[in-house]
Amino acid sequence: MKALQYREIGVAPVVVDIPTPEPKPGEVLLKVTAAGVCHSDIAVMSWPAEGFPYELPLTLGHEGAGTVAALGDGVTGLDIGESVAVYGPWGCGRCIKCAAGEENYCQRARELDINPPGLGAPGAIAEYMIVDDARHLVPLGDLDPIQTVPLTDAGLTPYHAIKRALPKLTPGSSAVVIGTGGLGHVAVQLLRALTSARVIALDVSEDKLELARKVGAHEAFLSDAEAAGKVKDLTGGIGAQAVFDFVGVAPTVATAGACASVEADVTIVGIGGGTLPVGFGALPFEVSVKAPYWGSRDELIEVFELARGGAIDVHVERFSLDDAPEAYERLHAGTINGRAVIVP
Ligand code: NAD
Ligand code: ZN
Ligand code: ZN
Repeated sequence: MKALQYREIGVAPVVVDIPTPEPKPGEVLLKVTAAGVCHSDIAVMSWPAEGFPYELPLTLGHEGAGTVAALGDGVTGLDIGESVAVYGPWGCGRCIKCAAGEENYCQRARELDINPPGLGAPGAIAEYMIVDDARHLVPLGDLDPIQTVPLTDAGLTPYHAIKRALPKLTPGSSAVVIGTGGLGHVAVQLLRALTSARVIALDVSEDKLELARKVGAHEAFLSDAEAAGKVKDLTGGIGAQAVFDFVGVAPTVATAGACASVEADVTIVGIGGGTLPVGFGALPFEVSVKAPYWGSRDELIEVFELARGGAIDVHVERFSLDDAPEAYERLHAGTINGRAVIVP
């Protein structure tokens, strides 16, 4: 089968022919119908050889959907041909976090060397993929896999962040979304669907700001040194009750802190390496700063329910598996608007 693999540190990923995997006991083989391309992979491929956490070659893709192609021994409850999406942050399934569906915070994943597909385990940008356990599959039903696959990360991750900030987002409040790319343009829609907050979007690209307006941002303007001041002006000097940073570099994290109100939730989702000093006087009183990772299994089902109800429309750009390297080049160059999805 064809697969997109990262094979050598610092070298762009390539499409290769590898044996089609067979499911071992307990595993499920999917025929991939769609796989999303996330900016985190660009970060992974920028890491140096020293301390690189995954074995190479690595088949990329941690947003996956497919139809059930074969079941390993002992797997029940799935039909061959059924359309499913993959819950990516795999855990042990037994610890207290996994028992609550929060496999993204599994207490034993590291010790047991359990890795998400595309981030250690073979990923979804291939003709077939192995899923380690049937509990990591969510039925898609009538949802279109190509439109829906980005929700497994670009939907689930902002949903998890926003859900925790909901008590702050009362009528009359404001929410800031920094970086309206794959995750951010879904975040804008989630905020509109779940809250009555005024949504303010910031980005460095006019195309992305246009998309943010199209999907529901009340205000959208350039993310620069003046952005926090503009947010303050728009909020009568008070600031935003929730700020979501989907970039996470030093200047955006600084903006996030500077446009927060007293008691705001500041959530740093982007993995750009920026840090925000916390301490008395460093931020408005009682600001909470969080840096979450992905989301829980039940939250993924909730995101799909929102999609089913028409609340989320992911802006998708399709690529064939042969063109997957181009999708990564374009994402790296900042010219994907919405989410790139590979359709094998
Ligand atoms: P993306 O490339 O699709 O979107 C990033 C957006 O940020 C683009 O629209 C870009 O124009 C914009 N941007 C760049 N610099 C900016 C700046 N200074 N100010 C404002 N906007 C700026 O990326 P994505 O796939 O949506 O991922 C977003 C970030 O979230 C990445 O850092 C990714 O690694 C991270 N991520 C984290 C988690 C998690 O669990 N914490 C999960 C998924 C992705
Ligand atoms: Zn991701
Ligand atoms: Zn666990």
